[in-house]
Amino acid sequence: MREAITDVDTLFHTLALPVTYKPAARRAAQLFGLRVPAGYAARIRTGDIDDPLLRQVLPLGAETESKPGFGADAVGDLASDAGDGLLHKYHGRALLITTGACAVHCRYCFRRHFDYGAHHAGGSHLREALARIAADDTLAEIILSGGDPLSLTNERLTVIGKALDATPHVARIRMHTRTAIVLPERIDDGLIAWVAARRARVVVVIHVNHAQELAPGVVERLTALKAAGATLLNQAVLLAGVNDDRDSQVALSEALFAAGVMPYYLHLLDRVAGVHHFEVDETRAAALMRSVAAVLPGYLVPKLARELPGDSAKRVVGV
Ligand SMILES: *Cc1c(COP(=O)(O)O)cnc(C)c1O
Ligand code: SF4
Repeated sequence: MREAITDVDTLFHTLALPVTYKPAARRAAQLFGLRVPAGYAARIRTGDIDDPLLRQVLPLGAETESKPGFGADAVGDLASDAGDGLLHKYHGRALLITTGACAVHCRYCFRRHFDYGAHHAGGSHLREALARIAADDTLAEIILSGGDPLSLTNERLTVIGKALDATPHVARIRMHTRTAIVLPERIDDGLIAWVAARRARVVVVIHVNHAQELAPGVVERLTALKAAGATLLNQAVLLAGVNDDRDSQVALSEALFAAGVMPYYLHLLDRVAGVHHFEVDETRAAALMRSVAAVLPGYLVPKLARELPGDSAKRVVGV
């Protein structure tokens, strides 16, 4: 994580990007910091401002524009937070914000305005959150999220894993992580052992938006995770200029399956301020998914979904 690129000059120099984009990149990076792991930067084609991986991490001037309909908390997380980092919005499962840190800063992130420092289950908050989980036997699944739960040390994950294993009604521990993709070295022997040691079933939902992200080193670590007993699923975000065409979606599903991962969700963008340039409207998204479904087996077509405040589940959009 220390080797990540965090300043605009280094990013432009390393990837030989056109300097005309630099002043805007600097301004946008002041709103939400630049963070690109070195290994992820190595998967980006140098000199190509349209590279689909670069688009996800390059701060653009458009982020500084405000647009009606794009606010600070698009999914109502702030309203459902009881203060200890446990978000219980849906029946049977709750999401534990374990940390605010991510290995990468995705420009479209719906949590770019979320005050992680104040909301994650650090220190004494974790004890409160675990007590709430133990007291509610409707909670069959706990989702470790963030930020990214793989920003935590294996020791910290073990504290959480053991507590959940000791809670009989928790049948599944799910982890939502993009670190596994952008920094595959994080899937170390200790983490593999953590997965293998769990009483509860482990589900790892990775976050891959484009087939080019699945470099050989990533696939190798995913294979090790799966061998340890984890069920692997993928969630992606539909992003203009990154993966909003049929061939990109088909290639992504094929590459995921080849790596032992099932496509799960394709999320419509959460409408937070500074991300409007990534939006694909619902009509075009549905048409795109029809074209994908026309050429892939059904099990390789992710569910196109949108999260709206107040809903009892993610809303699957008609295709
Ligand atoms: C997305 C989400 C979940 C998980 O939803 P699934 O449909 O089970 O993947 C759970 N809790 C919160 C707060 C969420 O945002
Ligand atoms: S890894 Fe996930 S939470 Fe972190 S910046 Fe990217 S989209 Fe946001």
